[in-house]
This record gives sequence, C-alpha cells and structure tokens, in this order.
Amino acid sequence: MSTSPRVLISGASIAGPTLAYWLARQGFRLTVVEQAPALRTGGNGVDLRGAAVGIAEAMGVLPALRDLATDIRALTFVDAEGRQVAGMPTSTFDRIGDIEVMRGDLARVLYDATTNDVDYRFGDSVDTITQDGEVVQVGFAGGTSAEFDLVIGADGLHSRVRNLAVLSEAEAAHPLGIGFATATVDVAFGARGEVTLHNTPGRVAGVYRSAKHRDAQAFFAFRTEREFGFPRDRESQIELLREEFAAGAWEIPALLDAATADPTFYLDAMTQIRMPNWSRGRVGLVGDAAYCPTAFSGSGAALAIEGAHILATALAESEHPTVAFARYERRLRPTVRARQRSAGVGGTMLVPATTARIRLRNQLTRLMVLPPLAARAFRADRPRGGPDRPPTRLRA
Ligand SMILES: Cc1cc2nc3c(=O)[nH]c(=O)nc-3n(C[C@H](O)[C@H](O)[C@H](O)COP(=O)(O)OP(=O)(O)OC[C@H]3O[C@@H](n4cnc5c(N)ncnc54)[C@H](O)[C@@H]3O)c2cc1C
Repeated sequence: MSTSPRVLISGASIAGPTLAYWLARQGFRLTVVEQAPALRTGGNGVDLRGAAVGIAEAMGVLPALRDLATDIRALTFVDAEGRQVAGMPTSTFDRIGDIEVMRGDLARVLYDATTNDVDYRFGDSVDTITQDGEVVQVGFAGGTSAEFDLVIGADGLHSRVRNLAVLSEAEAAHPLGIGFATATVDVAFGARGEVTLHNTPGRVAGVYRSAKHRDAQAFFAFRTEREFGFPRDRESQIELLREEFAAGAWEIPALLDAATADPTFYLDAMTQIRMPNWSRGRVGLVGDAAYCPTAFSGSGAALAIEGAHILATALAESEHPTVAFARYERRLRPTVRARQRSAGVGGTMLVPATTARIRLRNQLTRLMVLPPLAARAFRADRPRGGPDRPPTRLRA
C-alpha cells in the first residue's frame, strides 16, 4: 500500500469511528461518510466488556464513558397492572470492569475522539463501487466521486457497501423472527435505575431508565413471521408497531404514543449477519455490516469496537489489504460465533412465545435458576478453543 493510504469508511456509529481512530494513528488518511444528516444518538444501554473496555481505555475515552455509565440495577418483569412478577439484579450479568452506556453517548464519545483526524461527511452515501487494480473508485449519492486505496463498510445491518461489493443482503441476513423498536421517552415512564418489562405471548414492551439520564428509552420486541421486507420508512414502521401492540395492556398505549412521536424512533428486524467472507479485494466490512449479533446478544457494540481494533491492527501490520482482511477474520471469527450463539438465549428469555413459557420464565427467575444460566450464556465471549486476543498491538 502507499505510505499514507486513503481509506473511506461508510457509517459513523460505533465501528466506523473506532476504526477511523486507530487507522489515523497509523498514518492512514480517513474519510467517513454517514447517510444521516447528523450523528445518530438513539438507542438503549449497550455493554462494553472484555477486550472492548481495554480498547476504550487505550483510546483515552474510558473516563468519559465511566462518567456516562448507566446505573441500571435491576430487570423487573411486571403484569398488566404494573405489579412485579419476577426480577433479577443486573449485577448477575456484570463482570468487574464492564460498563454499560447509552448507545448514543458511546457514539458521541467515539465521534468526538476522532473529529481532529477524520474528514466526516454527513448526509451522503456510497452509491457505486468499482475496484480497479490497486484502487477503488467510489461514486456518492450526492453526485461526487473519489478514489481510495481501501473502502470499509461500517454501515450496519443493511450495509450498502456489503450489498455493492461483497454479498447481497438476502444471502448474508439470518433473521431471528423478532422485530425490535426503540425510542427516547419521558422519564415519567419506568422506574429509576431499572429495566421494566411487560410480556404477552410473543411480545415484550419495556422501559430502560437510568437514573443518571434525563430521558428514558422505550423498547418493543415481537415475534413475527415476516422475516424479510420490514418497512424502511418511518410511517409504515409506526403503523406496523401499532398493529403489533394494538391489544394494549400495562402502559403500552401511552408508551406507543410517546415512542412514535420521538424523532430517534428506530425499528428493524432482529437479524444476524453471517457471511463466508467479510471482504472482497480492497473492500472490507466491520461491525454489524459484517457480523451483526443482534441486540439480544448484548454484545453488538463491544464486538464492533473489538473488530475495528483487530482490523486496524491487521491493516497496519500487513503488506496488502487482502492479507490483512484474512488475518482479521481469523482472529475475530471465533469470538463472533460465541457471541452470536448467546442471542438465542436473549430471545427465549425476553420474548417467550406462549403464556406457559412466560410463566416458566418468571418462575425460574424467582427461584434464581434462570439468572446464572443467562449470565453464563451472555458471558460466552471466550470462544471455544482459545482466549480472545488482547488488544496489545496498537497503542494510542
Ligand atoms: C439509531 C440506532 C439505535 C440503535 N439502538 C440499539 C439498541 O437499543 N440496542 C442495541 O443493542 N443496538 C442498537 N443499535 C445497533 C448498535 O449500534 C450496533 O449493533 C452496534 O453498536 C454495532 O455498531 P455498528 O457501528 O457496526 O453499526 P450501527 O450502529 O448499525 O451503525 C451503522 C451506521 O451506518 C449508517 N449508515 C447506514 N447506511 C448507510 C449508508 N448507505 N451510507 C452511509 N452511512 C450509512 C447508519 O446511519 C449508522 O450510523 C442501534 C443502532 C442505531 C443506528
């Protein structure tokens, strides 16, 4: 590669800015293109654990993240009248050093850590990609075009880069048969320092309310036969969510009104991305674009940070991008496999399909049988057959 390779990253959320940070330190020239007109700040709490905490520390952002950490103490299941029917302390899932932050806070901190070194372009998108020998020609939806040495898709579940240059979404996507929506709502909803959840068969509605934050986060998940073809426009998404939760109960009608009025409202199918290769030629993928584990795995953000660091390390130490992409895959795939497995446990626990299963989940929770089992599944971040590689290669 040239001495100061030009890299285009598509997507300014978690994986994109983390990769940009580490590549900038290795002398790469970075452009990050983000489709949204400004940084997207919605989302519930996300966990940073294992290697991701060490990477955040090496980036110098850990103190800021610790200041912003949520203070969720309990997961509380309630009935239609709001009475607790089961619950567990969140400490069941924590390991010393882990932190939970709101997704939007994490995106903001990572973005702020990179603005001096990275050319961010909001409100645009990759439209065409042509690999031409040692360079990649990119056409942007805004009408401009430019040449890069490398293009990386960090543009999430519906990655445009993946679709254009690596693999179609139909081949890469493995839906879990669950829809998921979230939006910011008033703190009047929910209980301070708790995640409150109300189940009906195949559905859950809830509120995530960190006492340290000014707003709460509503979330909804529902089992669905509709695997592909979730609507992408806001009005149809709102209509879909209202249909799914039309039966009401608990605080659902008010929660729906508040959530669907929020500009950061987000709805999508819970879908894992599983692909035979995370790159083609000089185009690679990182984060959800390459290996989305879904929110139910509890590890999408951590895996995005870890993957970005491993990819940056591989690109910095390899003569050619194809060698780097192969090294990156070899190092990260076992961890991805382990964490994708835990999403099934999350779905079973949070969205039981029948009344009998809801009762069983509540009973096993009350008897303290479920919490340690779930904790073990969510801590399955040590891949079978070997430990994670620690983030020792690149230093800030
Ligand atoms: C608004 C929002 C809310 C979320 N809420 C939750 C949550 O509550 N719980 C949870 O576990 N996970 C949530 N996630 C997903 C979570 O952020 C990811 O699973 C994880 O952090 C991996 O991050 P990523 O950077 O790989 O992908 P993502 O966080 O999905 O980010 C992808 C980025 O690429 C941008 N993008 C998409 N298409 C294009 C394009 N064509 N051109 C340029 N940019 C593009 C998107 O706008 C986004 O900023 C949310 C994501 C978003 C965007």
